Amino acid sequence: MDFETDFLIIGSGIAGLSLALKLATLGKVTVVTKKREGDTATNLAQGGIACVLGEDDSFDLHEFDTLRAGDGLCHEDIVRQIVRQAPERIRELGEWGVSFTKALSNPEKLDLGQEGGHSRRRIVHVEDFTGRAIQRALMAKVAKEKNIEVLEDYIAVDLLTECKIVYESDTADRPEHGKDAKTLERCLGAYVLEVATGTVHTFLSHVTVLATGGAGKVYLYTSNPDVATGDGIAIAYRAGARIANLEFVQFHPTCLYHPRAKNFLISEALRGEGAILLDPDGKPFMQKYDPERKDLAGRDIVARAIDMELKRSGKECVYLDISHRPPEFIKKRFPNIYNVCLGLGIDITREPIPVVPAAHYMCGGVITDANGQSDLKGLFAVGETACTGLHGANRLASNSLLEGLVMAHQAYLFIKENMEDFTRKPAHAIPAWDTGGAVDMDEAVLISHNWDVIRRLMWNYVGIVRSTKRLGLARLRMAPILSEINQHYWDYILTRDFIELRNLAQVAELIILAAYRRKESRGGHFTIDFPEKDDWNWRRDTVLKRSNNGG
Ligand SMILES: Cc1cc2nc3c(=O)[nH]c(=O)nc-3n(C[C@H](O)[C@H](O)[C@H](O)COP(=O)(O)OP(=O)(O)OC[C@H]3O[C@@H](n4cnc5c(N)ncnc54)[C@H](O)[C@@H]3O)c2cc1C
Repeated sequence: MDFETDFLIIGSGIAGLSLALKLATLGKVTVVTKKREGDTATNLAQGGIACVLGEDDSFDLHEFDTLRAGDGLCHEDIVRQIVRQAPERIRELGEWGVSFTKALSNPEKLDLGQEGGHSRRRIVHVEDFTGRAIQRALMAKVAKEKNIEVLEDYIAVDLLTECKIVYESDTADRPEHGKDAKTLERCLGAYVLEVATGTVHTFLSHVTVLATGGAGKVYLYTSNPDVATGDGIAIAYRAGARIANLEFVQFHPTCLYHPRAKNFLISEALRGEGAILLDPDGKPFMQKYDPERKDLAGRDIVARAIDMELKRSGKECVYLDISHRPPEFIKKRFPNIYNVCLGLGIDITREPIPVVPAAHYMCGGVITDANGQSDLKGLFAVGETACTGLHGANRLASNSLLEGLVMAHQAYLFIKENMEDFTRKPAHAIPAWDTGGAVDMDEAVLISHNWDVIRRLMWNYVGIVRSTKRLGLARLRMAPILSEINQHYWDYILTRDFIELRNLAQVAELIILAAYRRKESRGGHFTIDFPEKDDWNWRRDTVLKRSNNGG
């Protein structure tokens, strides 16, 4: 056995690190992370965290806005649980060292930003670099914890699982005659590649947590960091856990369009503070698509509106204009965006910002219960990789950092209560990783070519506006790519790039499958062949499980 730990956490964003800090009170925590500890989507978050604090606000209103965005697929019990815990979790982050921006009018109170889809001001933030402030505070606190070890450049490959037969009344593994048997998978840890040495280690743990973030890199254009290759979803799927709602990819309407900008987001908070979208001729257009909320409509509506305007005009970008607000306000409220744009020659206090939509957030993921536990006993999924039911068909802005925090807390409480249940030894010895006859892959183009093909295919065929024909073609084109990758998996020694490609391809296939199955348009999924919502699908998640799909 290479490594033994009480709690194995895969991923070092808000979900992974906040859970690590809590589990450290119960035992030894090992966090593995595939690049540097701070290479996370959390680090890039700008807008902030939704939390009911305003005098004119209420939990009911935040819940209502979340349900409205989720378009009939939110799980109401989860929405309640997460919305109502927000003030407590924000207070905790403050105690951990995050200095949220105070209101100008009253320094005793936190400043509350406005974002699309929210009916009240309720976004707590640290200027416009909230995620960076949170990531730093968590990393600083983790560094002081003796019970937490963080291993950088360690990438999880697959889970270790044990299949056990249980009987309806069984607690002691002893079958009772006549009782129905069912199989239960238990997670015992993971195989993890140490990138520097190329060694695949066995990590044995009582509890394993997937906190691996999103899958934006499946698409050609994305706001996500390079680490967002959907690893947790692919890993859980291969291990037999159920996955849900992958067709609901949220496209952020406004990423900076500039040849020298890589995936830079122009926060929704700009529209919250009065910025207006302009077509390539300089005319506002959102009133055509949502006469009531206009530029503050939900993300899916705004992203589709921009897509339509781009297709109509044949131009490459639209514009977002906040230059009518006082320059001092803009510089104080959006220092990061102001500086990055200025560095590229765009003065946002004087001119509109060129923007395009990009894949931003995965609303679906590994199905979990209200405690963050997946179908596999001992396997938890928290943060963007999970599908808890909070987001339904579309995420309300600034609800995801909150979800990561609250679900990490719930998982901690559940694990603490049920620790005895998780501490059983495996029934059989765990085999070490066997490379068989695999050899080094000497041609990196085998990876980079498929990587590029998948991302273009997904952007063009499975993007903001879909059709049955294009989804069918995407399925056909993915099949040979997947079988080539599966063959390479046995032929070549594993590398980080190859593990990511394998996961990216798996998640792409699942997104296509989920989108193909949903014969309606709802939330983040829009298809020209079924442009309306089908009431029959209200509250129906698209669930995928490996054995069901024969894949
Ligand atoms: C530009 C941008 C702005 C955003 N703004 C906001 C906002 O204002 N408010 C909001 O609520 N949300 C926002 N979001 C979304 C939010 O940031 C993410 O949903 C959230 O940070 C996800 O946190 P996480 O802990 O689940 O994952 P992440 O923070 O992405 O962390 C994932 C971790 O898993 C690691 N990992 C992945 N695969 C493996 C593997 N196989 N082995 C080992 N490690 C692995 C990664 O290296 C990383 O450490 C934004 C997202 C982006 C991209």
